[in-house]
Amino acid sequence: MMVLTKKMIEIRSILQNVGQTGALQLPSIVVIGSQSSGKSSVLEAIVGHEFLPKGSNMVTRRPIELTLINTPDSPSEYGEFPALGLGRMTDFTQIQKTLTDLNLAVPEADCVSDDPIQLNIYSPTVPDLSLIDLPGYIQISALDQPEELKAKIAALCDKYIQPPNVILAISAADVDLANSTALRASRRVDPRGERTIGVITKMDLVDPARGNAILKDRNYPLRLGYVGVVCRVPSTKFSFGRNVNITYAISKNENTFFGAHPEFAAPDSGVTVGTTNLRKRLMSVLEQTMAQSLQATSDAIHQELEEATYEFKVQYNDRPLTAETYLAESLDKFKHSFKDFTEHFGRPQVRQLLKHELDQKVLDFLASRYWNKPLSEDKSWNRLDERPISELPNVDSENLYWHRRLDASTSALTKLGVGRLATNVVANALQQHMDRLISESTFRAHPFAKQAIQEATNAILNERFYSTSDQVENCIKPYKFEIEVDDREWAQSRENSQNSLKEELKACEEALKNLKSNIGSKKLVQVMSFIDKLRQGEHADTKEGTEAFGFSQPLLRKGMEGVFLRDRAEILKMRLYALKSKQCVTSANKYHCPEVFLDVVAEKLTSTAVLFLNVELLSEFYYNFPRELDNRLGRHLSQQQVESFAKEDPKIRKHIELQQRKELLELALEKMESLMALEKSKKAPVVGEGSVRTGRWGGMF
Ligand code: GDP
Ligand code: MG
Repeated sequence: MMVLTKKMIEIRSILQNVGQTGALQLPSIVVIGSQSSGKSSVLEAIVGHEFLPKGSNMVTRRPIELTLINTPDSPSEYGEFPALGLGRMTDFTQIQKTLTDLNLAVPEADCVSDDPIQLNIYSPTVPDLSLIDLPGYIQISALDQPEELKAKIAALCDKYIQPPNVILAISAADVDLANSTALRASRRVDPRGERTIGVITKMDLVDPARGNAILKDRNYPLRLGYVGVVCRVPSTKFSFGRNVNITYAISKNENTFFGAHPEFAAPDSGVTVGTTNLRKRLMSVLEQTMAQSLQATSDAIHQELEEATYEFKVQYNDRPLTAETYLAESLDKFKHSFKDFTEHFGRPQVRQLLKHELDQKVLDFLASRYWNKPLSEDKSWNRLDERPISELPNVDSENLYWHRRLDASTSALTKLGVGRLATNVVANALQQHMDRLISESTFRAHPFAKQAIQEATNAILNERFYSTSDQVENCIKPYKFEIEVDDREWAQSRENSQNSLKEELKACEEALKNLKSNIGSKKLVQVMSFIDKLRQGEHADTKEGTEAFGFSQPLLRKGMEGVFLRDRAEILKMRLYALKSKQCVTSANKYHCPEVFLDVVAEKLTSTAVLFLNVELLSEFYYNFPRELDNRLGRHLSQQQVESFAKEDPKIRKHIELQQRKELLELALEKMESLMALEKSKKAPVVGEGSVRTGRWGGMF
């Protein structure tokens, strides 16, 4: 058993995840040869399956890094493209198709790419090997291929045939060895023939005596020797399916062929033939090469690890960070800030929010039902059923007109859909606060988590919305019929309404001031006095006439705004005066003081609504949110989701990746060291040509 190669292949797959740097390449067997020399056939014979792209027109355009992994304990054979994440492929036709697609994806114009395809094949019948298939050397560029293609392929091959790789130089027996592109290329980088295995394919196509002579070629002597093979699959036997292992058929075919000729079969023939022997030789050579490169590889890993460790210390102060801990910490912090928020957003805050909202509604009603009333001298007011607000303090307390006004306003307020409004106000506020919490947390850089939090929030709020809104509406129902006021409430609302009106007055005056500075105070006075006259019936003639007075339409609109603001301010001052007066001290005069009474109603609606909002919405939300959050960002996430979450933040990504790199290098180094210790203790003789071990693949020769 080739333990070393197996372990080294394991280490190599660890290193592949580190992010490959040249220094960490482990030795492989690199297959070179000209087009149609039989490269693919040899590789397939070794693997035992037809899986390589076929076709006459440059089907191999990218290096294929083929890793064979012997799985003695499992009968299943399958392939995996680790970089593609397609999972196991047990159908070799599927593997062939995938390889073809990957190769053909290289644009026609580029022809070859040096981006390797990684393919692992697991089988109980393959040896542990790492092989690299390269595009074949071409002699003459075809018409539709760019001139520099030949050079491009040669350059790509040159990259791979460097030490410590072993070169598998493929030449066909029916082509003069002196013309073999593979051997020529090999000779350039390995002039003493120390790490090249010569493979002569198509031995069946030449006369056995000539075949024997080729294998004994002394022109380019190779320490690892030449091996003659016949790799063509005997076609007749395989009409029943392509997924069948062809190892046996090939070796049987070879045994028949070579066995029939003493030039190959005689014990003193002095040549090595057959794919079974080739396979054994590959294994022992790779094992030996791996053993030789142990120290260098270990040193390279050491150095990489040292660099990673240094960087980790300098950049991150050795602070450990994994995707899991990052998520857990972020989640913890977020829950903390949420908890903090729940302590500061309770009944008083909800009450204030809701009261503010209802205050706005009250102001709207007052504006449309009271304050829009004409000043007595305004002749443009043509609705005769309307009474001027200025009369309100002086009408007698039984006046039906003003009674109806207040009753209608009160009813509009209590029936405006307080349940829905109140629930909406609180739900919106909660959403906004959650958005704020996100923006203040580490999650702000993570779209996935952000969405999860927003979804958790919405899920609970949506779930609670209708029942809360119904509950609130139900509880304020009594106010739709009767509202009782005690003295304390009245006094409080009298103060509230004065403040509210003062605010409104301030806003009015502010707006008027802005208007003035906007169009100039002189111009504003002019256009306003023009509009006043218009309203009092002077120049009432034509609308078109207005332009004639030198006022443009936009200016007139501004003027109207000015008049409105001035009048509104006047009314507000008047009403403030009324509210301060003795008349509004007692609730008995509520019809004279609609502002105060409507505030009483708003207060009552608010207090009642808040009680239920607190129980039905707020407490429910506070209780359920952390659970919903755990559901979405907690244990249920897969390792991959956690990883991709954490890496959304480029800074975190760098930190995690460096840590992962460091850990993988540590792991690789650890395995490397135990492997070296094992090798030392074995002190086994070096395996080379002529001392091929008889292993499981021992064959007939
Ligand atoms: P590649 O272009 O170097 O990959 O060569 P292939 O493996 O595709 O083989 C080219 C052609 O040679 C195919 O038609 C094979 O069937 C044929 N071939 C390969 N090996 C042998 C062999 O040992 N004997 C014979 N007669 N034909 C072979
Ligand atoms: Mg091929």
